[in-house]
Amino acid sequence: MKNTAPIDVLIARHREDLTGLADRVWATPELLYGEFQSCAEHTAMLRQKGFRVTEGLAGIPTAVMGEAGEGGPVIAILGEYDALPGLSQEAGVAEHRPLPGDGSGHGCGHNLLGSASLLAATAVKDWLAANGIKGRVRYYGCPAEEGGAAKGFMVRAGIFDDVDAAISWHPAGFTGVNEAVSLANTRIDFSFVGRSSHAAAAPHLGRSALDAVELMNVGVNYMREHMPSDARIHYAYLDAGGIAPNVVQGTATVRYLIRARDLAELNGLVARVRKIGDGAALMTETSVSTKVVSAVSNLLANTPLEQAMHDNMLRLGPPEFDEADRAFAREIQGTLQDDDIVAAFRRHGLKVERDKALCDLIVPLDAKGNGGVGSTDVGDVSWAVPTVQARGTTYAIGTPGHSWQLTAQGKSGIAHKGLVHVAKIMAGTAVDAIMKPDVLAAAKADHKARTDAYPYVCPLPTDVNPPIRMSAGD
Ligand SMILES: [Zn+2]
Repeated sequence: MKNTAPIDVLIARHREDLTGLADRVWATPELLYGEFQSCAEHTAMLRQKGFRVTEGLAGIPTAVMGEAGEGGPVIAILGEYDALPGLSQEAGVAEHRPLPGDGSGHGCGHNLLGSASLLAATAVKDWLAANGIKGRVRYYGCPAEEGGAAKGFMVRAGIFDDVDAAISWHPAGFTGVNEAVSLANTRIDFSFVGRSSHAAAAPHLGRSALDAVELMNVGVNYMREHMPSDARIHYAYLDAGGIAPNVVQGTATVRYLIRARDLAELNGLVARVRKIGDGAALMTETSVSTKVVSAVSNLLANTPLEQAMHDNMLRLGPPEFDEADRAFAREIQGTLQDDDIVAAFRRHGLKVERDKALCDLIVPLDAKGNGGVGSTDVGDVSWAVPTVQARGTTYAIGTPGHSWQLTAQGKSGIAHKGLVHVAKIMAGTAVDAIMKPDVLAAAKADHKARTDAYPYVCPLPTDVNPPIRMSAGD
């Protein structure tokens, strides 16, 4: 039986409003911590749907929360609405055509991410009220996922402390439960100070900060052989000490991005990189200071919630796309490399089918995917409360993340159908968590077992704050 459960009927009632919201957010792409218009749209929608609204969560002007219901368990449904630089693109065309403006675009589909989550929360709100059930549902509008680690700051501020379970999703080429694998990471700036002097007349009086950065990089590059194979280290020069080669560079700064499989491994690796920085300073008679810029935790899985979400996916079946959707998806695939398409199937552990442009299945829960692993700030929420994420089909198979092709599909029939479908999955999972106390109890026991050995310590130092802006003009 498909799409006849009461929660799905409630989703359908709000479908037009929320696909409209997704389209408006697509049309006003805003970057991390500058999502003023997008957040205002979400806030207005929360009020229109009758939620109790809290603005400026965790001191972040572009974070908002809406709550509905009374007593009972608290289920959080997380949304995002930030865009990316350089991914402006006309909608609905399979040809690279940036729009006039600052070049930003929804190249990760977060216009859909926020709207589908708000749609799911609205349906759960109606369902609680219609059935007189004790329980609360919250929509968390989370800014700055792309490089801003906003959810980490929100967790650190304690705004998830009374939440029993968190549910979210991400736009994707396939529908399935998200495999909870992501890397913990941190960005740290290493700033060296030496002494500048004339590089020819008095080199012996100079102490080069640039030499220190270069020696630090050499040291880290030698360390790579002796670190866990999943770990990643990248660096970029923020200050190379100027452009004059005839001056000994008195200052230099390098930004390190360090990634590891989990927080314990990350902390161990960070300590080693810091030692190499200290060693470089010692060798060059410079001094070094460091500043943590951002940090996110790895994702923790939650087997009972994943099972509940997967059951909802099987109940619904895959999204039902039409011939126009498939035709557009094939056009988009025509702009991709064959490698992109093959990698997309493999990432989900699926047999490669080159004639399939759109997902028509539910990825099995035990599928063993392989492919690169990134990072997400949902990781920090997953350490604080039992968390589960869906992948919902909103684009052609093989579309790379952060690409103009992804922006191009962000207002399409594929995106709209996918948004509504994944909202049903999340709402159904929330209802199960509220109605089946054993599911929530098992989810909490699972979470406790995963965090007992290495309790969560927020990787963001207390003196690091989000780089918020107070208005769009800041
Ligand atoms: Zn994303």
